[in-house]
Amino acid sequence: MSGSCRDLRDQMDNESVLDAFSALVSGGRPGYKTIIEKKVEVKKCSECLFILGGNEKFCPECGEKLATN
Ligand SMILES: [Zn+2]
Repeated sequence: MSGSCRDLRDQMDNESVLDAFSALVSGGRPGYKTIIEKKVEVKKCSECLFILGGNEKFCPECGEKLATN
């Protein structure tokens, strides 16, 4: 009994993890939202997310051209 019970729990765990992961990948876009929120206070490279001082024209980390103004 304890064996099958354990199996069921593993299955449920896998499903809930998969659900959460799917929500992250498809619907929620938490990373995207985080970038937008932080863009207000901190300027970041759109390529590597290197935190910028705000006056750089190119990212010192990856060389990405930065949009100024
Ligand atoms: Zn960069």
